Amino acid sequence: MKKIAILGSTGSIGTQTLEIVREQKDIQVTALAAGSNIDLLEKQIREFKPKIAAVWEEEKAKDLKIKTADLDIKICSGMEGLIEVSTEQTAEILVTAIVGMLGIRPTIAAMQAGKQIALANKETLVTAGHIIMPLAKEKNIRILPVDSEHSAIFQSLQGESENSVHKILLTASGGPFRGKTLEELKNIRLKDALKHPNWTMGRKITIDSSTLVNKGLEVIEAKWLFGVEADQIEVVVHPQSVIHSAVEFEDGAVIAQLGTPDMRLPIQYALYYPKRRSLSGKRLDLFGLGRLTFEKPDSKTFRGLKLAFDALKKGGNLPTILNAANEKAVALFLEEKIPFLSIPEIIEECMDKIGFLENPDIEEILETEAEVYQYIESRW
Ligand code: NDP
Repeated sequence: MKKIAILGSTGSIGTQTLEIVREQKDIQVTALAAGSNIDLLEKQIREFKPKIAAVWEEEKAKDLKIKTADLDIKICSGMEGLIEVSTEQTAEILVTAIVGMLGIRPTIAAMQAGKQIALANKETLVTAGHIIMPLAKEKNIRILPVDSEHSAIFQSLQGESENSVHKILLTASGGPFRGKTLEELKNIRLKDALKHPNWTMGRKITIDSSTLVNKGLEVIEAKWLFGVEADQIEVVVHPQSVIHSAVEFEDGAVIAQLGTPDMRLPIQYALYYPKRRSLSGKRLDLFGLGRLTFEKPDSKTFRGLKLAFDALKKGGNLPTILNAANEKAVALFLEEKIPFLSIPEIIEECMDKIGFLENPDIEEILETEAEVYQYIESRW
């Protein structure tokens, strides 16, 4: 039996991870954490019987304790709770399916405790990649990518350890507003931005896909996961989302992973790596598809992508500023307090105004996040 813990079990990645557990029958879930959805968490606890569960809010944790009084389970809350879940003694793999920079501390705690990481929470690598990757090396921890693009790159690199990567081709669907002009983006409504053409995901990442900030975060994530420089990463808009990404090697050979848009595949690959398992669901039908198309990204209209490349090139706490400003701006957009185009404007202003730190430690990363939040709260 493989043993796993999940941070963010009630979200899109979390519930799909549990679907795999349900289907495969040889994974035991030892710990679960969620933000506030205790009704779903209770159902998950009853079905998967973890030893520990954590909820962010203390009040909700108390409610959950009452609801699960008939079960043998420890319920905890706050950051302490997330860390308890991440370091649950018997788990071998931690699935980081939580959203935001909140994932940094529990991910580090899990690595210190020797857990392998199935990483969906890209914000952790974007902001603290310079700390996470050396720690993974030191502790001999595998960071198994869950993001479909990074999983595709990881799959394309299998058996290629002797060969150096010339370029990574990071594919992007282009989001729901591909081809639109800045003028047309002025009046985008929340409900339009929440409609992704190919993937069903959580609200925050769906907005990030519509601004192309998600692709920018993925570019930074790719640098850390695969040890490449900014100019070795090329974003390729591929509206059908069939090629999940590719690697070009020195001799010009390009190896890619293709499939239907189904997050369960990269999640399952991370859980069972290096083995593949059978997976229910639709298979790729190339004849049905007919043709695949490719375009250059429009980073003049979708400035988030360019800003992410700037942050990656300059490094330091700039990716944190970009990420924190984006998190806050997206939250404001989700509350319908700012228009769509304010998201990149806010990111750019924060990258301009917040103090630069060359080599931030975890404290400084979190201080930068707080500073960005305060700055945005004072301005918008
Ligand atoms: P969702 O919004 O669907 O889920 C987020 C999860 O995090 C929920 O379980 C939520 O709990 C939990 N959570 C939120 N705040 C807290 C908190 N304070 N304490 C504990 N748990 C908390 O997000 P996604 O599943 O879409 O994304 C998760 C991560 O995976 C993100 O980093 C995203 O970028 C990445 N990712 C997602 C993909 C996708 O297809 N969805 C693809 C690739 C990467 P609750 O619901 O109870 O509030």
